[in-house]
Amino acid sequence: MRELEERIRREGRVLGTDVLKVDNFLNHQVDPKLMVALGHEFAMRFADAGVTKVLTVESSGIAPAVFTALDLDVPMVFARKRKSITLSADNYTADVYSFTKQETNHIIVDKRFIQPKDSVLIIDDFLANGQAAQGMMEIITAAGANLVGAGIVIEKTFQKGRQLLNEANVRVESLARIEDFVNGQVVFANED
Ligand code: 5GP
Repeated sequence: MRELEERIRREGRVLGTDVLKVDNFLNHQVDPKLMVALGHEFAMRFADAGVTKVLTVESSGIAPAVFTALDLDVPMVFARKRKSITLSADNYTADVYSFTKQETNHIIVDKRFIQPKDSVLIIDDFLANGQAAQGMMEIITAAGANLVGAGIVIEKTFQKGRQLLNEANVRVESLARIEDFVNGQVVFANED
């Protein structure tokens, strides 16, 4: 998606060898107009998939996920990372290792919000090693729901997340695909 690639090129900062910082428009400050555009693009790509729920993980997946859900006219559910006293005891849980934070998070979804009749679309901000997506897949499987695919804002093709999802036969739609960082610059997968 050209608009997204231009924003990454203009405002993204490469940290080390494998992390992209996009806190100007996605991970801290959020550009709502860009989120509307991302949501619309995901909704178009999964328009015929019969989605009944959009699922993400707090917090950075929420903005693109909510606009996707708005466009698809379905609810958005975000898996929570911390237990809250307001959360019921009847939950699905999975462990997700975050390589950017280098910690394992316990992600939690109340059983009322993903049901066997649901067709669930996963949305996330980044696909790196696929741990967040795998955690969400475990929850969808535990709920007996149908997984229709994963919509990823920024995929890093040099990490192993895509392979993991391909092996699980999950349809993946990424709006920007980064194949490398060279001298602090982003190289998109569709470039020569
Ligand atoms: P995975 O679970 O696929 O290894 O990583 C996905 C999660 O890690 C995303 O939800 C995102 O929060 C975080 N993440 C992975 N790579 C990056 C990155 O390059 N930049 C930022 N800002 N977050 C990342």
